[in-house]
Amino acid sequence: MGKKRISIIGSTGSIGTQALEVLEKLQDKFEIIALAGGHNKELLDAQAKKFKPKYTVLGEQGLEKICSDKENDIILVACSGKIGLRPTLTAIKNGINIALANKETLVMAGDIVMREAKKHGVKIIPVDSEHCAIHQCIKDISQVDKLIITASGGPFLHKSVDDMKNATVKEALAHPKWHMGKKITVDSATLMNKGLEIIEAHHLFGFDYDDIEVVIHPQSIVHSAIEYKDGSVIAQLGLPSMHIPIQYAISYPERFEGIKSKSFSFAEIARLDFEKPDFEKFPCVKLAYKAGKTGGTMTTCLNAANEEAVFAFLDGKIKLYNIYEIVEKMMSEHKVIQNPTIDEIFEVDKDIREKTKKFIKNYAK
Ligand code: MG
Repeated sequence: MGKKRISIIGSTGSIGTQALEVLEKLQDKFEIIALAGGHNKELLDAQAKKFKPKYTVLGEQGLEKICSDKENDIILVACSGKIGLRPTLTAIKNGINIALANKETLVMAGDIVMREAKKHGVKIIPVDSEHCAIHQCIKDISQVDKLIITASGGPFLHKSVDDMKNATVKEALAHPKWHMGKKITVDSATLMNKGLEIIEAHHLFGFDYDDIEVVIHPQSIVHSAIEYKDGSVIAQLGLPSMHIPIQYAISYPERFEGIKSKSFSFAEIARLDFEKPDFEKFPCVKLAYKAGKTGGTMTTCLNAANEEAVFAFLDGKIKLYNIYEIVEKMMSEHKVIQNPTIDEIFEVDKDIREKTKKFIKNYAK
């Protein structure tokens, strides 16, 4: 078989650069068609020099070109934010498989994306470590009763609510297990990231929200699990490195040694702990369940309000706990559109962002 042809949207970001580390070890397996970077031209040029894609694209323009390029066997969507959504839909309509690392695509428009994928016979293979784990565990989805998503708990797991309320940006960004972009690291501190992942899981695997459970697992070794109707639980384990889920998603259904650097040792890990999540301390998870169950544009509202609030926190305009209050307020005022079109989703996104920014001004000292 020839090489698998791949493009990366977001090659200069956290997932994108790690994907290129994976591809560096798999040069005999993959041919890179295109690399798209956000705004880091210097890094994109360096990547182009090293990996010799057919072309590169900087910024949002050009993403449609890549996603219409049927030379691609698979596209890794690793950009952050809503800019991934339209190009992903274009790729799906062109029958190109997707390795999906961009959460917003499913949180904003999961119903549309999954419907189109089904229609065009396209595989959406999750890169997010939890969903990648579930993807690896499932053999016969019709026999699965429940999805169990693990959460490391972030830097405030065993801190008090007061510690959280007074958390600095630096404390919120000090994630104990995963090294990621700033936005997702703050989401991990509030557990909103887990909330977004519940919504992702609902769309990817077609499970009701009541059948998707979250468990705290501080070591981040068990990346998620499923329970079959007979009580058997299958989990996927591995050292906490994004290289493994990235490589799985782009090489599926094959597996390669690739970048694997260390053999797994239960004895070295010694113990795996689990605990029930405290949704009173981390109420963002409750908001996500609520948004998911409400459906329609409510998850778009949750995502947009959260993102603006996280940016405001990173800018020092609000406190960490205000993120929850702000998202709750925006959700309480949102008039949901059920079965929205893509244009309606983008309108809601824009509208909520404006409202959120305005509302955040109340917090400014
Ligand atoms: Mg994750």
